[in-house]
Amino acid sequence: MLQEQEAHAAEMERTFIAIKPDGVQRGLIAEIVSRFERKGFKLVAIKIVVPSKGFAEKHYHDLKERPFFNGLCDFLSSGPVIAMVWEGEGVIKYGRKLIGATDPQKSEPGTIRGDLAVVVGRNIIHGSDGPETAKDEINLWFKPDELVTYTSNAEKWVYGDN
Ligand code: GDP
Ligand code: MG
Repeated sequence: MLQEQEAHAAEMERTFIAIKPDGVQRGLIAEIVSRFERKGFKLVAIKIVVPSKGFAEKHYHDLKERPFFNGLCDFLSSGPVIAMVWEGEGVIKYGRKLIGATDPQKSEPGTIRGDLAVVVGRNIIHGSDGPETAKDEINLWFKPDELVTYTSNAEKWVYGDN
């Protein structure tokens, strides 16, 4: 039993998810949070912030050579963003599945972007694309004491214990 719990804990990972200004302004906060929550992932940090342009440039530093970089950073810093950390087994990769392809025209129906967005420049949500970026993005957006460690009541039903 203890070994199983330890194995379960070892598989837990965390990812950074943000609802961009378009998702916030369109009233999609609850809809998006709900999709992660219903899946069985656990919310461990959340806040509403208006990032500065410089902060947005840090967040998207990998894309600085792309032609849309400046517009993207202007947009991310144009209004409130919901910054979150979600925890769960496989949450980094599966979070990206819930979100759907970068271009909403190519996102499958049933995904967040597929159901709720139309163009790539207004695709409403960000999700870390791997374990390294997840770590970096969580550290950029949150102080360690903003992450809450707790046992969710649902956990034993989501994961089972045997
Ligand atoms: P993501 O990880 O799926 O969000 O996609 P990327 O990391 O490749 O790009 C980051 C963000 O830049 C995307 O979510 C889009 O908002 C934006 N973006 C990506 N490609 C394009 C593009 O070709 N044109 C424009 N206008 N924006 C783009
Ligand atoms: Mg990305």
